[in-house]
Amino acid sequence: MKEARHEEVMAIMHEQGTALDTEVALNEIKEQIKEVQTKIQENAKATSVVVNGPKAKKPDDPSTATVAPIAEPKSGNQSNKNKPRRPSSYAEALSKPNYAVLIESADPRKTSDDVINQVKQNVNVIDLGIGVNRVTKIRNQKVIMACGSQEERRALQEAIRQKCTQVSARSTRDRLPQIRLVGVVNSLTDEQIEKAVISQNRHLLGSLPPNSQVRTLRRTKGRTQEIKNVILEVSPPIWKAVQGQKLHIGLQLVPAVDQSPLTQCYKCMGYNHRAAECNEQIRCGHCAQEHDTRVCPNRNLTPQCSNCKKAKRDLEPHPAYSQDCPDWQKWDGIARAAVLYC
Ligand SMILES: [Zn+2]
Ligand SMILES: [Zn+2]
Ligand SMILES: [Zn+2]
Repeated sequence: MKEARHEEVMAIMHEQGTALDTEVALNEIKEQIKEVQTKIQENAKATSVVVNGPKAKKPDDPSTATVAPIAEPKSGNQSNKNKPRRPSSYAEALSKPNYAVLIESADPRKTSDDVINQVKQNVNVIDLGIGVNRVTKIRNQKVIMACGSQEERRALQEAIRQKCTQVSARSTRDRLPQIRLVGVVNSLTDEQIEKAVISQNRHLLGSLPPNSQVRTLRRTKGRTQEIKNVILEVSPPIWKAVQGQKLHIGLQLVPAVDQSPLTQCYKCMGYNHRAAECNEQIRCGHCAQEHDTRVCPNRNLTPQCSNCKKAKRDLEPHPAYSQDCPDWQKWDGIARAAVLYC
């Protein structure tokens, strides 16, 4: 089972390596990845932020530092405080829309905190009645603020443009959530699969808005030659209705699970770039040594995560492609910050 999971992950990662869609989707944040990685490691202190809201609790765990879901008053369960938790799991994403505004300072000496302060000081979101669901620091001069509706986003963007002279604000391209259909027969065409999702699963979908979309992004290796996993990009109502369910696809009933929009490089195990454009040293996803994960001679030994090793984190042993890795969780959260889940 574990082995099968490993194969699946490697297949997904391999496919992602050649998937232009994913790359384009992450274009926004990928430009300064190295810089961010270093900076975040340096500033492994809390960066939880709240705009005009209650005082932010500073998480102790650096892994929770980058993405801060805000205004979620947690009834003081102290024992949970130090537990690492997913900064932006899909469950969290599900509950809050992400109509995102990318706010950026042209001055490289500014930090993302400076950008947030600029907005705080000049834009009164309370008076304007703008709900901000999430504030995410992308890199030192960039911040994403996610609003609850297109109207609020427009208002926030306008206000920033008028009131803040030192930062720019623009909407990010709204990205659709992804699901993975596990084990679909490969004889079906993309078109047939897309059609099947809608036409054979009305019991789950109910009546959908007319502009609902299902688009095949790629197929990843399945357990046999005949079946593959299919990654789809779907409209938020479809994602909501089908993720975690089983879908009728042709003569099959297949699991539909949430798919992270994050790209992990299967060559160096870094994030937000493809192996084809990777300039880093090759790292095994299982043992962190310098060889291809697929030919790892240390499969039977305890895994070691190259990203945690680099960051000198001493955590439960896990492979570099594990979703338990703080780096994976951090980048997953950032990637999801611009996805419209509802
Ligand atoms: Zn790489
Ligand atoms: Zn290895
Ligand atoms: Zn790790």
